[in-house]
Amino acid sequence: MRVVFVAAECEPWAKTGGLGDVVDALARALGRVPGVLDEPVEVFLPRYRSVPVRRDRDLETVVVTVPDPSAPAGAVEVAVRSLDAAGYRLRLVDHPPAFDRDGLYGDAAGDYPDNAWRFALLARAALEARRAERRPVDVVALHDWHACPAVLLRDLAYAADPVVGPAAVTLTLHNLAYHGWTPRERVPQLGLGADPPAGDAWGIDLLREGIRRAEAVNTVSPGYAREALRPEGGMGLDGDLRARGARFGGILNGLDEELWDPATDAALAAPYDAADRAGKAACRADLCARVGFDPADPAPILGTIGRLDPQKGFDLVAAAAPALARGSARVVALGSGDPALVAGMRAAATAHPGRIAMVERFDRDLARRIYAGADLFLMPSRFEPCGQGQMIAMRYGTPPVARRTGGLADTIVDLHEDPGNGTGFLFDAATPDALRFACERAIAVLRDPDRSRWDGLVRRAMAVDWAWERSSAPAYAAMFARAIADRAAARRATG
Ligand code: ADP
Repeated sequence: MRVVFVAAECEPWAKTGGLGDVVDALARALGRVPGVLDEPVEVFLPRYRSVPVRRDRDLETVVVTVPDPSAPAGAVEVAVRSLDAAGYRLRLVDHPPAFDRDGLYGDAAGDYPDNAWRFALLARAALEARRAERRPVDVVALHDWHACPAVLLRDLAYAADPVVGPAAVTLTLHNLAYHGWTPRERVPQLGLGADPPAGDAWGIDLLREGIRRAEAVNTVSPGYAREALRPEGGMGLDGDLRARGARFGGILNGLDEELWDPATDAALAAPYDAADRAGKAACRADLCARVGFDPADPAPILGTIGRLDPQKGFDLVAAAAPALARGSARVVALGSGDPALVAGMRAAATAHPGRIAMVERFDRDLARRIYAGADLFLMPSRFEPCGQGQMIAMRYGTPPVARRTGGLADTIVDLHEDPGNGTGFLFDAATPDALRFACERAIAVLRDPDRSRWDGLVRRAMAVDWAWERSSAPAYAAMFARAIADRAAARRATG
């Protein structure tokens, strides 16, 4: 099959969270599953200002004419610049008015108000590029709301087009919290054909449209799929998801085990692996030196990394950290985002120098040093579609302390509930106390003079098999095949 991805993030070119990790890893892994692809996956990604690429003239470029109702001529010329990523083809949609900006989604003032127009342009450029090249597509795989205009365009603007019209569309929900709500007055800018969807009085919800129209929809873990079907977890979309019946499910994310490997990670002070973890001590000392902790202090280091969003529970970390720091532990947090959450973490760090550290930035290397150098990894998410952080931490021999929700519950086995299989620690209530008690439970195991329980825990955590090509990528291939069959049947039925 010929598969095109449309996504707002793809590591290492553009990433704010797990979306970027997953788009990159899945595109590559599909190529490693025998008998699936006729050509490498093409990933259409905006050429943001921050995308690190070689000079444009070194990149293969096609210029396509893209209808754009907001342009005076009704269309704009967009350059699509291509390069071979290891294992897939990256196609950068280069349109400076849309993408040559400070942030991916917004700046200090908040989200860009024209995000729906920006990402509709991405989707349209992807479809137009394949049309201009006369290269039919079997599956357009959409990732999150940003890509959803593509399915509206297929249905409303290109249904009769021989290249794009027959394509099946799948939608992967990496996070239900972001819908792409588009106020009514902005809908015409999206150029969704003569008869755009009615939506509600205030406008359209692009994610809802995608859920309704895609041939198949999935979330990134079975646990989150179950939660999404209930009103408490569905973010207003549970009814639409229930209506999809068997066309909706969960496929657990994998982890790119080559990109995330403490034996080869160039950011680390020393390499290590499951058979010989000696290098982890050097990573711990290196982390201490970088964040102002005393390397000689044996107090456990609790690391946490992520977007500072209410979802991630940084407020729980900020509230629990002082008591942990007054006791036996130290806390290091890396992340940026919500100013109130940043302020909470900063205040805790200021009050406890040398015990709590808050680093406010996006820093790929420091993230790796925390995964390796910390003793435990905190992930107190209120909801979690899958989570990459806990998987990376396990692979780096740093057991997670996480809330029992979504993908966290699917990927972590609590040590006290299942001593022979435990890979981390789970807690239920989204409260600072529940987080703190779980940390204390974990620290007691870490400090137990009998090292066997801790060693077994770390050994099992490092041994979990996350390889995309063994289970997740074949599951996507199966979903794509079903979507192709459904699309063909629907087209036969309508003549
Ligand atoms: P989400 O997708 O909800 O943001 P995940 O746990 O799935 O959460 O993925 C987060 C990814 O982003 C991980 O690879 C994590 O290391 C990375 N990350 C998040 N914040 C930062 C940061 N401030 N600096 C470096 N990497 C970060």
